[in-house]
Amino acid sequence: MDHIGAQDLDQRCREATHLLTLCRGADGDQPALTAFLVPRRSAGIAMTPIAKVGNNCMPSFDIGFDAVPVADDDRLGAVGEGFKTVSGALGYSRASMAATAVGCAKAALDLALEHAKSRVQFGKPIGEFQVIKHRLADMKFEITKAELLVAELARRIDGGEDIDIITPMAKLAATEALQFVTAHGMQILASAGYASESPMQRYWRDARLFTFGEGTSEIQREIIARHLGLR
Ligand SMILES: Cc1cc2nc3c(=O)[nH]c(=O)nc-3n(C[C@H](O)[C@H](O)[C@H](O)COP(=O)(O)OP(=O)(O)OC[C@H]3O[C@@H](n4cnc5c(N)ncnc54)[C@H](O)[C@@H]3O)c2cc1C
Repeated sequence: MDHIGAQDLDQRCREATHLLTLCRGADGDQPALTAFLVPRRSAGIAMTPIAKVGNNCMPSFDIGFDAVPVADDDRLGAVGEGFKTVSGALGYSRASMAATAVGCAKAALDLALEHAKSRVQFGKPIGEFQVIKHRLADMKFEITKAELLVAELARRIDGGEDIDIITPMAKLAATEALQFVTAHGMQILASAGYASESPMQRYWRDARLFTFGEGTSEIQREIIARHLGLR
């Protein structure tokens, strides 16, 4: 893939005027990370678009930095505290990702349910076959468990309460529920869901990012285990 020019970049990446960047001192005297908000148009920045399986509403780029000048005014937080600065926002962005996962899972369930009621095979709607009916019941069950955790997380955020333990649990529950629901949604729609015109295939593709975006499921489990006193 070619690097793209400034005009293309403006069109494809117009949302981002600055790049949140974690830097380490080149001479090794600052091993800890420092965060900067680097203006996107700075000299020495090369952005290469990445083609992805899903989430195409959100452009992604490989970003190269070559002796990019930064001013002290561009620094976000204290020198050497970049990880703390950035990870402080993760509680809230994981909450948002968990809520988005629940919303996407609900849309996939609605579509699967509509299909199960209207698609007739062997003389009856497929939703009347027990295997499909129970699959839909499990989808609803998984979504509801996740939604309750996400609601509790939102309540704690609103109340200014500690969210350290509930955030990874809500993120894990909601994003894993989304995998379950979209995988079964695809199975229930079968060929109808595999067609490019079907929203189900997009839910299924977009869903895949959710168990590693904003920290993988494995890392969420690591955080939960740490709360149990395990290292
Ligand atoms: C399009 C896109 C957008 C994204 N946007 C964001 C975003 O906005 N914010 C954000 O935070 N993340 C985002 N991510 C996710 C993030 O960048 C990484 O994908 C994620 O942190 C995992 O890193 P990695 O992909 O390098 O996988 P790796 O770190 O290489 O991990 C590979 C596998 O090893 C496992 N693994 C690694 N270390 C451990 C360990 N210590 N213990 C157990 N298992 C481990 C991982 O769980 C995973 O299964 C995005 C990813 C994509 C593709």
